[in-house]
Amino acid sequence: MAKTSLKVIPCLKDNYSYLLSQASSKKCIIVDACEFSPIKAAIESNFLEPTALLLTHRHSDHIGGLAQIKDLYPSIKVFAHPALVEQIPQIDFGMNDGENRQIGGLNVVSIHTPCHTIVDISFYVEEKYLFSGDTLFIGGCGRFFEGTGEDMFQSLSKVVALPTDTKICCGHEYTKSNLEFAHSLEPNNLNIKQALDDCKNLLKNGKSTVPGTLKTELTTNPFLRWNDPNLLKIVEGNLETNRDPGKVISMLREMKNAF
Ligand SMILES: [Zn+2]
Repeated sequence: MAKTSLKVIPCLKDNYSYLLSQASSKKCIIVDACEFSPIKAAIESNFLEPTALLLTHRHSDHIGGLAQIKDLYPSIKVFAHPALVEQIPQIDFGMNDGENRQIGGLNVVSIHTPCHTIVDISFYVEEKYLFSGDTLFIGGCGRFFEGTGEDMFQSLSKVVALPTDTKICCGHEYTKSNLEFAHSLEPNNLNIKQALDDCKNLLKNGKSTVPGTLKTELTTNPFLRWNDPNLLKIVEGNLETNRDPGKVISMLREMKNAF
């Protein structure tokens, strides 16, 4: 039986916060403090007691509700990248890359994934959830605000090493746009076509496309397929990449920006 239960909380225009609770208790951890009211409502309607909050990065659409959440639940502990501890007063603990902690009764591993910002963390939590913030999206990846294609390659390399049944819980509902871009690159890729159809059906029925699975991402997301011969052919038509994965990923991101 599943030990954990995930609640997806749509916030702001297209953000996601999450609650992860233990099936055996009312304790939960919050992932990203996107917006106070919907997070508070989700906690109360599920009769949960938040004990901790994990912050993937410092952008305002991920921390906007942080001060009010900490005011309402003063006992919760907030975890983020060590470099943010000095910058954001509500953060209690920094987590180093690869650090493993028991938080709110759950095993949490911090995976530093710099690029979108240089202090991004993706949190890998039992039972196989990856809270990837704005690093890995379903069907795509985040913008490179502070890092390079090589940084994103190194970050995503850590993600693809996780178990393939890992559930991907990302920071935004960007799936349709991402898969439309992927489909435009590879119109004959049936995995992408299927994922785009599934996405459209979910959205049409008012549902979220999260969580996805790493297994599906590995066959659909262009940013995880830097070795795929079909994709390389397309990218190399645009730029001499020398098959350097960082350059392939950079080129894909530039093409997505212009899409
Ligand atoms: Zn962001």
